[in-house]
Amino acid sequence: MFASPCLFVVRKWQSSISFRTPTMPHRTCLFGIDAAPILSICPEIILMILRQCSPMDLVYLSDIAVFRKVLEDHPSCWSNARSSVLSLPKPALLFSELQHAKMVFEGGICAVCSNDTDEVMLSFSLKIRCCAKCKKTAYRQLPGLRTVSLPELVASRGLTWAPFQIVGRGVVLRNVDVIAMAECYRVVQEKADDINEFIITHLVADQTDDCIALEDWKGDYLREKAAVSAQNTQFLRRIAGELQIKWIKLLKSPTFSRIVNAFNRDLALLGRMDWALVSRQVLAEIRLTRALSPPPRIIPVRTAAYGCQICTEGTVGRQISDMLTLYIHARIMHPSYFAAHGLSV
Ligand SMILES: [Zn+2]
Ligand SMILES: [Zn+2]
Repeated sequence: MFASPCLFVVRKWQSSISFRTPTMPHRTCLFGIDAAPILSICPEIILMILRQCSPMDLVYLSDIAVFRKVLEDHPSCWSNARSSVLSLPKPALLFSELQHAKMVFEGGICAVCSNDTDEVMLSFSLKIRCCAKCKKTAYRQLPGLRTVSLPELVASRGLTWAPFQIVGRGVVLRNVDVIAMAECYRVVQEKADDINEFIITHLVADQTDDCIALEDWKGDYLREKAAVSAQNTQFLRRIAGELQIKWIKLLKSPTFSRIVNAFNRDLALLGRMDWALVSRQVLAEIRLTRALSPPPRIIPVRTAAYGCQICTEGTVGRQISDMLTLYIHARIMHPSYFAAHGLSV
């Protein structure tokens, strides 16, 4: 009786937390329901809710202290959440669950045209995201990438150490990371540093496996998401038909358009219960459409750049774009700093 609507409201908190109607400017409001009672739920119920969440639900809920506390005590909620979206693989090396969920589901900036996009990463290993338009030509348009053939990659250890993306024509790598990794490789060879060579080879192999698992998952996820989106759109049309308005008009409600996006993203089907919970808010928003400013934009996150801060300006170390490359660079090129700061995987 209690869990279902409450669960829904909390799960989709993200959909309206930042939305304020002009008539309720200073109040946290969930679909017209006062949110304060949710914050006083006991930890056991909070845990039950967290166990039902998708990865992005957890990202949003971890912004709220009472939820964050329970989530920190029960990190297994994350793997639970990942299994709810076609068993999303675990985070790659050096990434937390939170960073992982954001990287996979939050969208970001297109690396080619710099527009916001909801598209899933084009390359998990190179951390490149592209909008639907730029996707096809991305590898040709992006500066600083290098394509090598598979035999060439296998022949050069310096190359295999850098993160790479397998594409039809061969393998794509980023020049800066290749140069930084080749430098590390040379130093390791010069010093006959077998231990580091062994460790790094394994780190890179693990990272590559993680990224390949993510790429495999992506194919299944995108197919499933398309199917779920089509069904949710059908539901939307039915509701619009009953209200005798155009279905596209329903999406003019910021709350509803965010909810539809969140459901599609989490591969969840919209139902009558969901509509019943939000209909009052949605209809109010449609009436107010003209008075409202457009929904707030997601703050863009630039393509990750991890440049080494110990190296001087203008050097290759400064331009490293991959976290694992940076880690290995610091380990090999700045061993004393590395040891002093206890950097660890
Ligand atoms: Zn683009
Ligand atoms: Zn450096």
